[in-house]
Amino acid sequence: MFQRVAIIGGGAAAATLLSELLGRRPPRMLHLDWYTGGGALGRGVAYGTRSPRHLLNVRAASMSMFAGKPRGFLDFVQRDDPSIAGTDFLPRFRYGDYLEAEVAHALQQGALHGHDVHVIPLAVDALVPERDKVTVICGERARGAGAAVLALGALPPQPLGGVSADALASERYVVDPWPLLAGAGADPAPRKVVLIGLGLTAVDVLLELSAQWPRAEFTAISHHGRLPEAHPNTAAAPYGDNAALVESMREAPDIRRWLSLVREAARQGADWRTVVDSLRPHTPGLWNELPLPQRARFMRHLRWAWERARHRMSPAVCRTIAALEQTGRLQRRRGHVQAVDLAGDALQLTLTRAGALQTMRADLVIQATGLNLDVNRTDHPLMRQLVTNAHVTPDPLGLGVQADGDGRLRHDDQHWPNLFAIGSLLRGSRWESIAMPEISQQARALADRLLAD
Ligand SMILES: Cc1cc2nc3c(=O)[nH]c(=O)nc-3n(C[C@H](O)[C@H](O)[C@H](O)COP(=O)(O)OP(=O)(O)OC[C@H]3O[C@@H](n4cnc5c(N)ncnc54)[C@H](O)[C@@H]3O)c2cc1C
Repeated sequence: MFQRVAIIGGGAAAATLLSELLGRRPPRMLHLDWYTGGGALGRGVAYGTRSPRHLLNVRAASMSMFAGKPRGFLDFVQRDDPSIAGTDFLPRFRYGDYLEAEVAHALQQGALHGHDVHVIPLAVDALVPERDKVTVICGERARGAGAAVLALGALPPQPLGGVSADALASERYVVDPWPLLAGAGADPAPRKVVLIGLGLTAVDVLLELSAQWPRAEFTAISHHGRLPEAHPNTAAAPYGDNAALVESMREAPDIRRWLSLVREAARQGADWRTVVDSLRPHTPGLWNELPLPQRARFMRHLRWAWERARHRMSPAVCRTIAALEQTGRLQRRRGHVQAVDLAGDALQLTLTRAGALQTMRADLVIQATGLNLDVNRTDHPLMRQLVTNAHVTPDPLGLGVQADGDGRLRHDDQHWPNLFAIGSLLRGSRWESIAMPEISQQARALADRLLAD
């Protein structure tokens, strides 16, 4: 058992691990330092939104923090409103309420079980892992731990290549949409808004800003110009023949073959979404069996299609976005953004589509290109330090850091015995590692690992 553990990160993954650890009764007292980076405990970016327009993209019944208590979130919300069903898509701020309540409960339990817990609302600047301890550095202060866990979520977004320094300085180019959505607004409200990206982040931006700025018109650009798929109104029965599909995929770790197997299963299944969802628990195993060139191929050609099929909009969100399109307030365009420059008091975008150059003007451009997990291309101080000092090994496809199956981080072709990660940074070793159902499984396994004698 590691008696002194440091958890670094203040979002849902850290909160879940903390709750798993403090809910147990290990043979010895646990010293836990939780470095949260500041902000509301547990909410992070995803559940820090206060907007009722921002809904969970997973049904309430599947959003428990705890792998061993599957009704956790549902029980929490039904205490206030028994009419809520497990199939509902609830506002994300309600999930934030749940996280905060569970953190408070875990801290109480920790005190009751005699654990020594410090909640430190600071960002960690550096880590020095050694074979028998990890030194955690926060400003002037250094504290030792037997083991440390990185629960940093996604890294801060970086501007796309081709965005000029003038465009960035003009404040008309928004690299990170969340502070804008949190109510900073813009005065006067822009009329022509361009979004780069068409995934779930872009959908959140559209839901919020179309309401805040009723006269604004939106153009959303992506390589394929397609929105995420939608969940069906009623939850479909699970796909039945999953074992045979997984077995066939295992036998032929080739991305083209997998695509045809999934398509074939979807043709036979009642609803293609159930086939996609049925692969979820098997994805880390399948991903691990896929050779690196095949993973790279997936990233180049299929990632966009998989993401839009797997990360879907709730039916209500889908209806709102469809209404924006029908009233002409939202247009979708296919293209690849090559450059964004300042042009007078607006921005000019240069795009290519099928080899042809096109330009368009916008009052405001918002980058909504999804999670940044490329540890080689980040200004996150802790991650830069870990990469520069070769304490971690970047994933070759820019999907976080290399890790073993139990989350131990790799360096120099070995693993650290005492440096772990949970959540998004493990995407390169698991692919399916960013949403709560997977994070709760990881938290349970990691708590077992950290407390094992
Ligand atoms: C907009 C959005 C909506 C989503 N919706 C869903 C959904 O409906 N259902 C679902 O299952 N999943 C959803 N997800 C996936 C989501 O990523 C996870 O559910 C979860 O929020 C991830 O939590 P995390 O703790 O890994 O990361 P985050 O929530 O990003 O938390 C990271 C934390 O680390 C802290 N931190 C960073 N650097 C340091 C440092 N150096 N020192 C200390 N602390 C530091 C940050 O301050 C932050 O508190 C959504 C994600 C996003 C972005």
